[in-house]
Amino acid sequence: MTYPDVTLHIAGAWTPGSDARTIPVLNPATGDAIGHVAVVTRDDLDRALDAARRGFSEWRKVSAFDRAKVMRRAADHLRARVEDIARTMTLEQGKPLAEARVETLAAADVIDWFAEEGKRAYGRVIPARLPGVTQMVLREPVGPVAAFTPWNFPINQAVRKLSAALCTGCSVILKGPEDTPASCAALVRAFLDAGVPGDVLSLVFGDPAEISSYLIPHPVIAKISFTGSTVVGKELAALAGRHMKRVTMELGGHAPALVFADADVEKAVSVLGANKFRNAGQVCVAPTRFLVHDSVYDRFVDGFVAHAQGIQVGDGLDPATTMGPLIHARRREAMESLVADALAQGAELRTGGKRIGNRGNFFEPTVLTQTPLSARIMNEEPFGPVALVQRFSDDEAAFAEANRLPYGLAAYAYTRSASRATEIAARVESGMLGINHHGLAFPETPFGGVKDSGYGSEGGSEAIEAYLTTKFVSQASA
Ligand code: NAD
Repeated sequence: MTYPDVTLHIAGAWTPGSDARTIPVLNPATGDAIGHVAVVTRDDLDRALDAARRGFSEWRKVSAFDRAKVMRRAADHLRARVEDIARTMTLEQGKPLAEARVETLAAADVIDWFAEEGKRAYGRVIPARLPGVTQMVLREPVGPVAAFTPWNFPINQAVRKLSAALCTGCSVILKGPEDTPASCAALVRAFLDAGVPGDVLSLVFGDPAEISSYLIPHPVIAKISFTGSTVVGKELAALAGRHMKRVTMELGGHAPALVFADADVEKAVSVLGANKFRNAGQVCVAPTRFLVHDSVYDRFVDGFVAHAQGIQVGDGLDPATTMGPLIHARRREAMESLVADALAQGAELRTGGKRIGNRGNFFEPTVLTQTPLSARIMNEEPFGPVALVQRFSDDEAAFAEANRLPYGLAAYAYTRSASRATEIAARVESGMLGINHHGLAFPETPFGGVKDSGYGSEGGSEAIEAYLTTKFVSQASA
């Protein structure tokens, strides 16, 4: 299986960086270098910015109907290329091939949905107070977008931003993930092959901080969208604020999963277990703090530990694998140090807890119970395959723990009581809430956080709003 070297895409051409620098790409299952990704220079960024300015004036004039036709062709390209793209993604990112296929096909659905929704970016007419006056609210594309996307879902983190920008008539400079560049580049290629003009969509890689600190303040860029950690997001939001740029921030989480006394425990175990360890836990909405009522605690822990032990960890290209490696050595080391700290503070290790082998970044599916709140992992996003199960006896204490952290991305709850479900929806501080199932991350539903997890949405009609400006025109007859 070959892995393609990845270049930049600027002003309609796939090109190496102007000083020919590259970064090696590693297979996280082996640690071996499998290819290289080009590094952008300041000159290259200037060319991308010029292209974005030209591309915006061209693309905004294309009707929403015609933009949709181009986008739907891009979706079809992804579907037709799914096997190649999924293998590339697994090689560079590590996730099981089946997950890479699902991600690629889901991205095609995201494009289709946004293509259609872009046709419905309606304005409105407001009745005027004076005869002969028409008051119009016009929706216009915000302008060239700088988008920054991470490695955990190399296609799906990018496709939401690209689709929302393209369906509304914006041009985009995408800084893709250096760890997983080829599948992200395959997404960009699908759009270009479908007929998105070359100036409208640029793809760059390189030093993330250098790129963001140049693009965000640049006068050509009108809108920033970032997915990544809260620490970096706060820096980028502050920079954008100084330059009065529109911002969408999809940041970290530390999702509580509340399992009440009247829960369907078996369902909670299987649904939460699947979502804890999907993509080796490197998911911003992964359940992390499992808050389980006393009366069902032992049953839940036994079931959850059995679930974790049933996971087949290995190379994502092996069809038997259900969990791949972590993305890089840093993430594996983070798991080791977070688990060591929790154990030193008195947490109980129920299963897992250590690296597997000495090649690649494999880490055991891990369950810790009764971890003290002072442990780092009870406060920092683990972003890895570690579940923290805590016992509660009083519902008030469960709500307090669910809302204790500054994060507010996703939360989950299991109960058979309709009135408790209503109370959960009202009380849990979170941008998204799955009750008695997972149910998040469809293109047509809002996706985003509150508190330190960011602002704005990457799904639903809210996602389109973020790429539109409102212009009020009051017109009297001459
Ligand atoms: P990292 O902070 O080095 O990188 C995370 C992402 O942010 C990468 O895509 C990186 O390119 C980007 N980034 C970092 N600094 C940037 C800057 N100054 N300007 C623009 N982009 C920048 O961390 P990492 O070790 O790769 O990942 C670990 C942490 O990142 C995790 O703990 C998690 O919190 C967060 N993360 C979140 C998501 C998500 O879906 N929200 C995805 C990936 C990583």
